[in-house]
Amino acid sequence: MKRRNKGFTLIELIVVVAILVLLMLMLVPQLTGFTETAADTVCHANQLNAYKIMVLEYTLGKESFDQEAAEKAIIEKLGPLEKLCPSGGEVKPNVPDSDTSKFTISCKIHGGAEQEILGNYSKDMLEMAIHDFYDKGKIGQLDSTGPNFGMKFKKTIADKYGLNVDNFDFAVVKKSNGYSVYIFDAIVNRKPGEVVSGKVYEYDNQEVLIGSSEGQSFTGEISSKPVDKVQINYLNVGSVKLQK
Ligand SMILES: [Zn+2]
Repeated sequence: MKRRNKGFTLIELIVVVAILVLLMLMLVPQLTGFTETAADTVCHANQLNAYKIMVLEYTLGKESFDQEAAEKAIIEKLGPLEKLCPSGGEVKPNVPDSDTSKFTISCKIHGGAEQEILGNYSKDMLEMAIHDFYDKGKIGQLDSTGPNFGMKFKKTIADKYGLNVDNFDFAVVKKSNGYSVYIFDAIVNRKPGEVVSGKVYEYDNQEVLIGSSEGQSFTGEISSKPVDKVQINYLNVGSVKLQK
């Protein structure tokens, strides 16, 4: 076939533009999805570092710990607070005057570093679990992924502490000599056999914490089991390995 000239015909141009538009439509949601996940990860990592600085300042700081002391310590070590979130969300430590040990940190866009923050409240969580679960005659492992009590309990905790319900899970285990409270990354959308990491807090039968208030790091496997005809993921406590 002979071409009349070296340029594109109108039809060819329309086809090329249409293909470009299609390609852009396919790519853009993936790109935004990716950057949002990356920003979320960076923000939570920065929050976690800031949170660790708060823990240090609370336990070892020379001045008394309050909102001002927390902000000062973080800025000194990590720089301005507004730089901690790549999406420009406001990352703010919060030290309640009523009880300065219950400090938290969160971002207006990405929420808080749930796992660390929940550790602060593991005793409250245990009290709620005992009051609403074990004291009502239930036994064994309480999973936050459970279709009935577990999910309601998780939502109560997320609401109470201003956390993102999709970012964490936990399990409480009643033993003969006390309780273990496991707090870990969300496992609902993970696969059985995958490894999850978190922190465990040990309490005796009088609900008194045994060991460090910072908890002990662990890794454990995700398993799956049917509860009321629903297949749920849960932390296989038997697989848990404590970290040094
Ligand atoms: Zn953020």
